[in-house]
Amino acid sequence: MPSLPPFPVTTVGSWPRTPELIRATKRKAPELEAMRDEACLASLRVQEAAGVDIVTDGEQRRDNFFSFLSERVEGFDCMSMADLLDHVEDKAGFEALLQTLDVPAYSIRNNVAVGKLRAIKPLVFDDFLFLRKHTDKPIKVTLPGPYLLTRSAWVQSLSSATYPTREELGDDVVKLLRAELIQLAEAGCEVVQFDEPALTELSFAGKSNTHTFMCAALAANADPEGELNYAVELMNRLVEGVTGTLKSMHVCRGNWSRDEGVLLSGSYDELIPYFARMNLDMFVLEYATERAGDPALLKGLPSSAHVGFGVVNPRTDEIEDPVAIARRVRALCEDLGHERVQLNPDCGFGTFAERPMNTAEVARKKLEALAQASRLLRSGEI
Ligand SMILES: [Zn+2]
Repeated sequence: MPSLPPFPVTTVGSWPRTPELIRATKRKAPELEAMRDEACLASLRVQEAAGVDIVTDGEQRRDNFFSFLSERVEGFDCMSMADLLDHVEDKAGFEALLQTLDVPAYSIRNNVAVGKLRAIKPLVFDDFLFLRKHTDKPIKVTLPGPYLLTRSAWVQSLSSATYPTREELGDDVVKLLRAELIQLAEAGCEVVQFDEPALTELSFAGKSNTHTFMCAALAANADPEGELNYAVELMNRLVEGVTGTLKSMHVCRGNWSRDEGVLLSGSYDELIPYFARMNLDMFVLEYATERAGDPALLKGLPSSAHVGFGVVNPRTDEIEDPVAIARRVRALCEDLGHERVQLNPDCGFGTFAERPMNTAEVARKKLEALAQASRLLRSGEI
């Protein structure tokens, strides 16, 4: 296991992109790769200066946290929600859902499996090597989780010629992610985080037909318990026997709108028993938002598991008070033990390139508040 300072500060992954980078990404400008390198380094420098202990590249090479795979994996077609509307079974329902959830149909893209999946370049390994060259700090690399990827990429009318069932696609998704995880672990990447935001929806939506835009393809009659068991199975197949890196999962309730009313709500209560069955070392969860419930329930996780405790909200302008953050962390440590707790925002600051949840300036101040809280805890002042 990598050695980390006490109360390490980290991020969930993404950082707001500059308008120039977004424009260059859209028109696939010839200088795009150089701009991406520079943007990753700019994000790294902000994190280092703010006092972040485990750094990321700010996902500056990505349009969103999972769509970027279509540039690196043959068989994925990256479609906008507007494109996808033509193919989902319940068009009217999907359109109404996008409106209700405040998702502009043009601005968010999704990978759809339209052929046999095959990596044509490393998914993230090169990105890790690039960052390693530029920092001595522990590195976190993020990847979409196996359940999210399987569920969001299988659209019957487009996928079934190659993958007659979603489970067959899931087998290839696991292979793809596992090969990458092994490579990262062998190269000494300190933390590999799988993002599984769709899990909360299963627990809150129950057997109703409501679901988030990311999972347009889910059959309306799907059984949440069966889906959660499938998510556990996929994750355990993916991580089985891999050591040398902190195998981590981030689960939140959506990060595409500042209107808390349209994001999912509900605590992690029902999910914790499923988390506990995943052979993971760490769970990165949001607790700055009141929608998350009582952190005391984290006692239900295995006693060896670390918790990435979300203590600043990426969707507000207000900068959280370091003293209040540190007190909350200290209270959680009473239940979990201090060696198991990391400090992070609830989610990324720019999950979707065109829908950043904050400016880089506010994001930087929030990271500084986390680092200040960590110093108060390390010194024993709180
Ligand atoms: Zn998130």
